[in-house]
Amino acid sequence: MSAPYEATLAWAQAQDAADPLRGFRDEFLIPPHEGRDSHYFCGNSLGLQPRAVRAALQAELDDWAALAVEGHFKGRLPWMDYHEFVRDDLATVVGAQPSEVVAMNTLGVNLHLMMVSFYRPTPERHAILIEAGSFPTDRYAVESQVRFHGYDPATSLIELQGDEANGTISMEAIERVLAEHGSRIALVMLPGIQYRTGQAFDLAAITRLAQRHGCMVGFDLAHAVGNLPLRLHDIGADFAIWCSYKYLNSGPGAVGGAFVHERHARTTLPRFAGWWGHDKTTRFQMGPEFVPTYGADGWQLSNPPILALAPLRVSLEIFVRAGMSNLREKSLRLTGYLEWLVQTQLNDVLEVVTPSDPARRGSQLSLRVQGGRARGRALFEYLMGHGIVGDWREPDVIRISPTPLYNRFADCVAFVEAVRAWHRGG
Ligand SMILES: *Cc1c(COP(=O)(O)O)cnc(C)c1O
Repeated sequence: MSAPYEATLAWAQAQDAADPLRGFRDEFLIPPHEGRDSHYFCGNSLGLQPRAVRAALQAELDDWAALAVEGHFKGRLPWMDYHEFVRDDLATVVGAQPSEVVAMNTLGVNLHLMMVSFYRPTPERHAILIEAGSFPTDRYAVESQVRFHGYDPATSLIELQGDEANGTISMEAIERVLAEHGSRIALVMLPGIQYRTGQAFDLAAITRLAQRHGCMVGFDLAHAVGNLPLRLHDIGADFAIWCSYKYLNSGPGAVGGAFVHERHARTTLPRFAGWWGHDKTTRFQMGPEFVPTYGADGWQLSNPPILALAPLRVSLEIFVRAGMSNLREKSLRLTGYLEWLVQTQLNDVLEVVTPSDPARRGSQLSLRVQGGRARGRALFEYLMGHGIVGDWREPDVIRISPTPLYNRFADCVAFVEAVRAWHRGG
């Protein structure tokens, strides 16, 4: 029986040539390194620019120049309804109904807006459950919400510790913490994929469990959106939030997104309101009373930033054309290949932190450099200097994320060759 993978460049190039998604790479601008394409593994941090973005932005600039205020109604894509031009594709990418999603603000803002509605602490039930070592914004946001409501994070913020070898979290650990503290937890707020370890969580199981304990459940999908196929509606989470500049390739500081489940579409829960969340049919009567629009749109505050939505619209269209299940299929093979290469060629240098079960990860592998921080930094800088772009997480982890839209099997081989060259030389 032959191995499923081979370590040679020729084998990798044959995979790339046979890849049904190979054409998508040409739709992106690959940053050059010394006159050639770099090997870009940093889509987990900032996705690459789709070529079509420039023309889409230019079109909005032209409409602004030619039409000014009339662009709201007479633009090729009228600005008045612009956020609706991304809605259906966004819903497809996250597995939601169109009325359940909205592109607005940024992740941190949306997290706060969602918690205003869905974190309603009472003296009996006031805690928020997050994972230990969460992304700083998430930690700061939940802690500040707890304080805002007059509670003490020492008792109202529960941080789930990793219980597995590499600091990842088992489903049993989540079950245990809910069995012990579920009755005082108001909100379970976990990531789709943990940014540091690359662990993907079972969102359906977590939602079922949290709801059985009477908790609201929200997910931070910063590293999951555009990376894993999602089924937010069927899973039944109360809300989710994400940013669009990572796997969604929508540009630095891109407009984020939010999901609010249909069962809250007409909620009477409090929210922070703005004119763009007001019922569209009467918005321009400019009345004093806020009447929320049905669904996720009802959480909008402001009229949307058209120049920031244009790249998102272009990018989502690519995802829909490629298909999330096709992308996932390639991603499983691509990351599986990288993992196999690391384990068979680089096990004297790198150790995979991310779970080895493909169901428990997306495209990212977090790789711990053996020998400590200084050695890790030296390898990272060597790679960056040789056109292999990943990112660094203290104290000793390099994150490498081959993405199925623009990475090739040959990129994985280039990574391995660079690490080996460094190891020989250093
Ligand atoms: C990237 C990321 C953020 C960033 O938040 P912004 O509001 O977009 O700056 C927050 N949380 C997580 C988990 C992230 O991965």
